Amino acid sequence: MKAAAFDYRKVQTIDQAIGLLQDFGDNAKLIAGGQSLLPSLNMRLSAPELLIDLNGVDELKGIQVKTENNQEIIFLGAMTTHTEIEDSALVAEKLPLLKKAVPHIAHRAIRNLGTWGGSIVYGDPAAEWPACAIALGGVMVIAGPEGRRKIAAKDFFIDLYTTDLQANEILLGTEFTLSKLQTKDYFDELARRHGDYAIAGLTVQIEHLDDVIKAARIVYFSIASTPMVATQAQTLLVGTSLQKINHPDLILQCQIAVRSEIQTMSDLTNSAKMKTHLIGVLIERALVSLAK
Ligand SMILES: Cc1cc2nc3c(=O)[nH]c(=O)nc-3n(C[C@H](O)[C@H](O)[C@H](O)COP(=O)(O)OP(=O)(O)OC[C@H]3O[C@@H](n4cnc5c(N)ncnc54)[C@H](O)[C@@H]3O)c2cc1C
Repeated sequence: MKAAAFDYRKVQTIDQAIGLLQDFGDNAKLIAGGQSLLPSLNMRLSAPELLIDLNGVDELKGIQVKTENNQEIIFLGAMTTHTEIEDSALVAEKLPLLKKAVPHIAHRAIRNLGTWGGSIVYGDPAAEWPACAIALGGVMVIAGPEGRRKIAAKDFFIDLYTTDLQANEILLGTEFTLSKLQTKDYFDELARRHGDYAIAGLTVQIEHLDDVIKAARIVYFSIASTPMVATQAQTLLVGTSLQKINHPDLILQCQIAVRSEIQTMSDLTNSAKMKTHLIGVLIERALVSLAK
């Protein structure tokens, strides 16, 4: 199928994009890399009158470092492509979890066009970036007619393909405040073939002071309608010895915690029961790996 006819405007500024969103309301759609939007237009899942192309807005592109209140912050612009994240030395050094996750997103040709912001706003529960954003304690920076606002990544993903972003708003990017503690992270996903969407995936970031875990963020993806935070397992890890998190008793406790706390959902090919089994497998692998 082909998309229904639409008008096209390539904007140069955020204000121009917001102005058009206000004028056209639900009849306009922003386009970034087009890797999710264009298939959905071709399948006639939506038929906007106007596509507003963000590729001319330089302010949305790239990765910056800034210091605020003695804290180092990395800002990942919404129009930064998956490939730019993959190739960034800054990301590899400061946000290594993203570096580990990015090869699992589709294939290079798609990563060359697809963007951080497109993936975050699309809110696909099987996508890697939303879970990583939560695991890294990210904050979404948003612009709309009323000005700018921020919302924590953990509160941004509301339901299947549904986020807190309003129809007249644009995601500018995501801020990551780097921990002053030492950090370790883990990324894994189970997929039938490399590049496929995951059957179940896990992202973890741990903050530790020497051997003592001070904070843990454990976030699953591709198992429910949004990324799922394993709060009980996080609580079990805080205060424990990093070297001992591979202890069989702790692994078992965490497996029981994630399997009882998280309500998994089936997808087209995998049952909820199978996903519940896999989230236990993934937490075991994570704890064994993080102890090393
Ligand atoms: C074959 C194939 C395999 C794929 N596999 C994976 C995978 O394994 N994992 C994965 O995570 N993704 C996968 N994707 C999706 C890919 O990562 C997309 O690039 C991504 O989901 C959307 O990014 P985009 O820049 O292409 O956004 P677009 O398709 O242009 O836009 C997506 C949505 O976001 C909105 N939007 C975009 N930017 C903004 C912004 N700044 N502010 C507000 N709204 C905005 C658009 O209006 C649209 O609703 C795959 C895609 C394909 C075609």
